This record gives sequence, C-alpha cells and structure tokens, in this order.
Amino acid sequence: MNNIISIRGAVTAQNTEDGIRNAAVRLIDKIYFKNGLTDGDVVNIIVTVTDDITAFSPARAIRESGHSVPLVSAVEPNTEGGIKHCIRVMVTATSQNKPYHVYLGGARALRLDLTATYAIALDGPSGAGKSTVAKLVAKALKITYLDTGALYRALGLVCLKNGVDVNDGGAVEKCIKDVDVNIVYRDGVQSVIADGEDVSSEIRTPEVSMAASAVSAIPYVRQKLLGLQRGIAEKSSVILDGRDIGTVVLPQAEFKFFLTATAEERARRRFDELTAKGQVTTYEDVYNDVVMRDLNDSTRAIAPLKRAFDALEINSDNMSAEEVADYIYSTVNGDLL
Ligand code: C5P
Repeated sequence: MNNIISIRGAVTAQNTEDGIRNAAVRLIDKIYFKNGLTDGDVVNIIVTVTDDITAFSPARAIRESGHSVPLVSAVEPNTEGGIKHCIRVMVTATSQNKPYHVYLGGARALRLDLTATYAIALDGPSGAGKSTVAKLVAKALKITYLDTGALYRALGLVCLKNGVDVNDGGAVEKCIKDVDVNIVYRDGVQSVIADGEDVSSEIRTPEVSMAASAVSAIPYVRQKLLGLQRGIAEKSSVILDGRDIGTVVLPQAEFKFFLTATAEERARRRFDELTAKGQVTTYEDVYNDVVMRDLNDSTRAIAPLKRAFDALEINSDNMSAEEVADYIYSTVNGDLL
C-alpha cells in the first residue's frame, strides 16, 4: 500500500548559477534514485536556501532540468553558526518504502547520523587494476577495503582441494555448504580465512582464478557470499571491488566506478604481476585466461559483470594506478567536503 512520505535532503553549493543548478539537480536526482521515484510519485517539492544563495533559483533549476512537479522556494531565516551556502529540500511523495534522506557535500555534516558512513563500489573486468586502486583509495580516505574476488577464490580453492568439478553446481554446493569463509583485518590488511585456515596467498594462482570464475556463476555461491559482503559494508565506510558491487551487492552505494582497460593491457599487467611473484607463465596463457574470464563473468545468468547505469566509467589504458586512485579520491572527497 502506498503512503505519503517526506524525504529530506540538503546540499552545499557555490553561489553561481552553474554551482546552484548542478547542486540542486544532483540532489533531486539522487533523492529520486535512492527512493525509486518518478515525477508521477511526487506530490510537491519545497526548496529553501540560506540567505547567501542568491545567484540563481534552485527551484527553477529543478524545473528546467525537466521535472514537472509543484515546486515552491523560500529563503530561510539566518541562524547564527548555521551551515552556509546550503540548499535544502523536502520532497513529499507517495511510496511503499521508508524515506531515504540524502545529504550531499558539506551538508552531510547536518545529518552525520544518516550519512556518517558511505560505500564506494569499484567494479570492472579481471586485471583492470581494481585491487591496486582500491587499496590506494582506502588508505587515502582511511576506510575499509574489501577485495570480494578473494571470497570467490577461497571457495574455488576449497573445491579444487576436494577434487570437486567447479562447473558442477550440485557438487560445489555440497562441498562448500558448511565451509566458513571469513575476512579478518590485521593492520588494515585483509586476510581470507576458510575453515580457520588463512588461504590469502594460496588463492592467487591462475588455477584458482579460473575456479573462482566458474564457481562464481553458481547462484548458491553468490547467495552465500552476499550477506558477508553487505555485513562488512554496514559496519564502516568501505570500498568494495568486484563485478557486481554497484549492481547487486550495494546498489545504493554513494559512489560507483567501473574500471576498464583493453584485454591486452590487462593481460600485460597480470603477466607482470605474476612473474614479479616468481610464478612461471606466458603472456599468451595469461591473455587467454583474461579473455575466458571476461566471457564467463559477463555472460553468466546471475549477477553478470556489468556497469551500473549510475557508475562512472574510467578507462585506465593510459592511466597509472595512482592516477586512477587520485581521480576516485578527488571525486569522493569533493562530494564529502
Ligand atoms: O577479482 P578477482 O580476479 O580476484 O575475482 C576472481 C573471480 O571471482 C572473477 O573472475 C569473478 O568470476 C569472480 N567474482 C565475482 N564477483 C565479484 C568478485 C569476483 O563473480 N564481486
């Protein structure tokens, strides 16, 4: 049954026409997205501004961005010590859900209870550099990093050790049903534990990569790991890297990025990484693995590798990991501060 809900939101903006247009439209778009709204669900929108927002009307910006709903705007009384350059909205709508309030930019400080933690989803194909980038971003933002691929690898490894055919859904389910997979952090570094054993280094071989890719297509495996990933993301601000973080695991993540690079470039990076670790392999083998895993990951029926419609795509062919991390860091930080 539909109820009337009031959704609150606020954003800080530069006092220029562009600054106000961008901030107001970004705020409304996010409120609509997070609450699953279209104009048809919205009764009205009340917009207020602090008295230092004078260069343009945010209500007009919202209307001119294509929203056809009743809008009214007003200037708030000036409160001593209150937040400056702030646009606030109250959206009244019909919905079956509870309101999801949205505070962006400096306005996050207004409701730290609602927005103190945030999540960054970093998805993309194998070898695009996600884990290197995610580690750098986590360090710079002082947040938790979860390498979700490691979880699939751990289950792939358990199957290999037990001689189970990784393409046989029934056999895999039986083998991993009672396996306890967990993550522990020591000095911020993630270790993967399977049934009490630290398997963090064992899972980094090409055989385990292929096994992980195969078992990850099995619905039971994805379901088993979903709660674990969401549980970690609930506790603190996080960056998760994977294939389906922005689409399935954390569809409401505040920030979403999709990191790509050509298969050749990704194979070259993986090859360098493996040989640096002393593993014996050839570029051709690594390239074939990359192409095969791309195919497995993007064509599987459940949670395929796919860019979330609201993820920012970054092509890293001509960018170093540091450059990609800097870009993500400044996008996130620019929005938080
Ligand atoms: O990222 P990484 O190469 O360690 O992942 C290993 C495999 O686990 C991937 O090829 C993919 O099939 C699977 N995976 C997944 N969903 C994730 C992370 C990894 O299906 N979120």
